[in-house]
Amino acid sequence: MTSVLELENLEVVYHHVATAIQGVSLRVPPRSIVALLGTNGAGKTTTLRAISGFLGADDAQIVGGRVVFLGEAVTGRPPHTLARRGLVLVPERDKVFETLTVRENLRAIVPGRRADRGAARPPVTLDQVFHYFPVLAERRRQLAGYLSGGERQMLALATALLCRPRVLLVDELSLGLAPLVVESLMTMVARLRDDLGLAVLLVEQNAGAALAIANYGYVLEHGRIVYDGSGDRLLAHEDVREFYLGVGRSPGRKRYTDVKQYRRRRQWF
Ligand code: ATP
Repeated sequence: MTSVLELENLEVVYHHVATAIQGVSLRVPPRSIVALLGTNGAGKTTTLRAISGFLGADDAQIVGGRVVFLGEAVTGRPPHTLARRGLVLVPERDKVFETLTVRENLRAIVPGRRADRGAARPPVTLDQVFHYFPVLAERRRQLAGYLSGGERQMLALATALLCRPRVLLVDELSLGLAPLVVESLMTMVARLRDDLGLAVLLVEQNAGAALAIANYGYVLEHGRIVYDGSGDRLLAHEDVREFYLGVGRSPGRKRYTDVKQYRRRRQWF
């Protein structure tokens, strides 16, 4: 199946010297959720920034490979150009405007006229957003600063939806949130995939939560993909379970690659 988003051997360097991403290739098919898993410092956020055009602020550069969106190379294009075409990064939830109401936050997202030109995708209305997130409708007159972490995450997702995404790029949806809140947010992401036909690249440390809804997953270690497979296969994979889900016999291993080495050593004994 053709991908809506594809990375081909992407390489990213910080400050002209520090390599953070070393030849990452992945595919996001239409109407699918692809999880990008990895521990702290694996390169997940750098990958998302490279795709969405936000590397410049951190003095980072793409030095190799390509980002292909809807069949066209868009490597290094600025964020507004990409967002206009439907490649949309969900803002971090601490970036909502706290002194504005929920409604004002949402009203601040008015797609430019150029976004309408030739767009095959229908606009997403405020009513639709309130339909998916009824709690935002209830709180639309409240200041965003008073929202809980989960509600802020909903507001961040809602603002991204108003940009009419074809592909949503989501960074650490679950971070710091209670398990029940994470579950309901993940269910909502799956619903947006199914109802609106969205493709989603879901960057997560919480492998269990992400793989529960993902069609496919990639495991990133030190800027390289070390394993990939369908959500179900990854969930059933012994190494992934041992390291990412904390189920298994090698407690305290620090990295996925350690688990693999440990396994090899075990075979020699
Ligand atoms: P986390 O969940 O902790 O953010 P991550 O998987 O998203 O982890 P990145 O933040 O992408 O990882 O970091 C990948 C590598 O790039 C790390 O080695 C990190 O130290 C380095 N890095 C990230 N941001 C910068 C920066 N602004 N300047 C220099 N190096 C950076």
